[in-house]
Amino acid sequence: MTTDDLLARHRAVLPSWMPLYYDEPIELVSGAGRRVTDAQGRTYLDFFGGVLTNMIGYDIPEIRDAVERQLRTGIVHSSTLYLIRQQVELAEKVARLSGIPDARVFFTNSGTEANEAALLMATNHRRSHQVLAVRNSYHGRSYAAMGVTGNRGWSASPLNPLQVAWLHSGERLRGLLSRLDADEQVDAAVEDLREVLATQTAGDVAALIAEPIQGVGGFVHPPDGLFAAWKKVLDETGILFIADEVQTGWGRTGEHLWGYQAHGVTPDLLTFAKGIGNGFALAGVVGRAEVLESVPAISFSTFGGNPVSTAAGNAVLDYLLDHDLQANAARTGAILADGLRAAVADLDCVADVRGKGLMLAVEFVRPGGSEPDPARTARAFEACRAGGLLVGKGGLYGNVLRMGPPLTLTEDEAREGLDILVDAIRTAAEVPA
Ligand code: PMP
Repeated sequence: MTTDDLLARHRAVLPSWMPLYYDEPIELVSGAGRRVTDAQGRTYLDFFGGVLTNMIGYDIPEIRDAVERQLRTGIVHSSTLYLIRQQVELAEKVARLSGIPDARVFFTNSGTEANEAALLMATNHRRSHQVLAVRNSYHGRSYAAMGVTGNRGWSASPLNPLQVAWLHSGERLRGLLSRLDADEQVDAAVEDLREVLATQTAGDVAALIAEPIQGVGGFVHPPDGLFAAWKKVLDETGILFIADEVQTGWGRTGEHLWGYQAHGVTPDLLTFAKGIGNGFALAGVVGRAEVLESVPAISFSTFGGNPVSTAAGNAVLDYLLDHDLQANAARTGAILADGLRAAVADLDCVADVRGKGLMLAVEFVRPGGSEPDPARTARAFEACRAGGLLVGKGGLYGNVLRMGPPLTLTEDEAREGLDILVDAIRTAAEVPA
């Protein structure tokens, strides 16, 4: 079967709203390190890792061995109703690393379910279904997770099971706060929070949910310290703070293990997913015991925390810590960010190069202004692929290139990818508006 046949069959049987990247979609058939190969034998350097999900790299012996060892026991999965040694071990590690005192951990299969569970816990604990969420956010594709997603393009239902009020957070090129400097943005966002609480909510609010860096939103992040300033206001009435670390967790920002740490605050609940399984379905919520324990009836996940996923999770976490991948993210991320900034400084179609560590974005605008330019972004995206580099696209207007390579990226690979990226951006920049 050719890739074209596969595409035709995909289109015939999968729903039309499931996106596929590229004018000619790619079928990946193998991977090693930071490289993947498609069915035509073309190899790409992977700067996206399937949306920041491949955190360690492809075909890493330590992870493959841990999974194979579990497969050979025959217990691929019986049920999480029985004791699973590696589930308990992973929960202990996650609880310890979370920075949340006396934490409990609940494993799920996806980031969506993790956020769904966190919202369930917070709303039960507070006996309220009012939630604060951030404009331009993404938290998943379930009913409640979509309800707190501040991006119409990703909100597949006009209905909302929660009563949600929307906050301004970090804004870069557009939005009411974008013209302010970092300190002013913090003050304005706190004022906005107080105003929203006073004007758009009635009685007790359950929680505020926020991403430290907005993933799908195009790697927009608030000034450091904003979450602590918000938390002071939340603490006045006991509103819980949920950090969605699905993209920012596990050292990706280079500065800390978690994105929330840049703010000098500790969340009540934290959700994690993507990288921890390095491709295996593994996610969860970690948080204060009294909040997790507030779920009023039995709750359970058939596959959440299963033996194979948690075997992978333990191996991933050990690899991450043993090799200090956070420091590597800072080092290789700086090569990329500095190189990119220098190489595109003269281009008036690039309005912003932003991000932290190995979570970096380039935003395209119509030359000279701030109007989004998704067409030019798409050209740069395709040109990266033609040059042998996979990157992501995103942002509210589809005008942002996103880079989130595995955290094992080498300095040589960072330079190699940077060259392709810069060529692609310059190629896209040459086309008249
Ligand atoms: N939260 C964030 C910040 C995400 O980026 C995503 C996935 N893009 C999710 C939640 C949902 O995770 P999943 O796709 O595993 O359900």
